[in-house]
Amino acid sequence: MADFDDVLPEALRRRAPTPLVDIGANLTHESFARDREAVIARARAANVTTLILTGTDREHAEQAVALAREIPGCYATAGVHPHDASRWNGELAAAMAALHAQPEVVAVGECGLDFNRNFSTPAEQERAFEAQLQQAAEGRLPLFIHERDAGRRMTEMLTHWRDDIPQAVVHCFTGERATLHGYLDLDLHIGLTGWICDERRGHHLRELVRDIPASRLMLETDCPYLLPRNLPAKLKGRRHEPALLPFILDEIAHWRGETPRALAEATSATARAFFALPQPEEES
Ligand SMILES: [Zn+2]
Repeated sequence: MADFDDVLPEALRRRAPTPLVDIGANLTHESFARDREAVIARARAANVTTLILTGTDREHAEQAVALAREIPGCYATAGVHPHDASRWNGELAAAMAALHAQPEVVAVGECGLDFNRNFSTPAEQERAFEAQLQQAAEGRLPLFIHERDAGRRMTEMLTHWRDDIPQAVVHCFTGERATLHGYLDLDLHIGLTGWICDERRGHHLRELVRDIPASRLMLETDCPYLLPRNLPAKLKGRRHEPALLPFILDEIAHWRGETPRALAEATSATARAFFALPQPEEES
């Protein structure tokens, strides 16, 4: 069982210059059960004021909605992750549609294609994703999309659906240039995580991030996963959390050749427009 401190080490306390939106926080993950309030307080102290809580299956989406109802500045997504696509059926579809009608739910997802691990077969993944594209089209909700090693098929499916769905973000983009440009040509948004902070596997992203217009770029931790590998201090439990988003902001700003302030302002404005969020002062 991982053990966590109530405060971050001094070297990991970095405050964003203007309020940030973390568009991918898995705060329903069991690793946050013990200290979720402290995690939220640390996010606020880091000026990460708005969290989109990722709902990856029925259970977690229901928990995300309940948390969003309770905690100011939190919103939820509701979807079925490609790993769980084999469980998609009529009953689950109805349950997800009911969640999409809740005012706390700001996107359909996390849904998509993951041909890296294939915990569900590709055919099951495509079926569940197609059904959720349909739900987004009907509910006029944006999509929060997961894609790993499935860029070609994802591009084909989204090309087919693009005129029917509202906006869509490919979260935690880690792909290659051609895939990125295909997504941008489809007028999609791109979510970036601390993957770029990883010397071993995020190197190619450093040149690519300049290609993403600020009006299409959003930031996310994808916590508790993907702890940035360039942090200046060790973290007990090695669990990623929203308070560390300013480190990702600074890294991406560096590789884009812009100031953290400019990137913070642009990505937060993009996220607020994408998810139709109220301005921070209007949040209740
Ligand atoms: Zn994902």
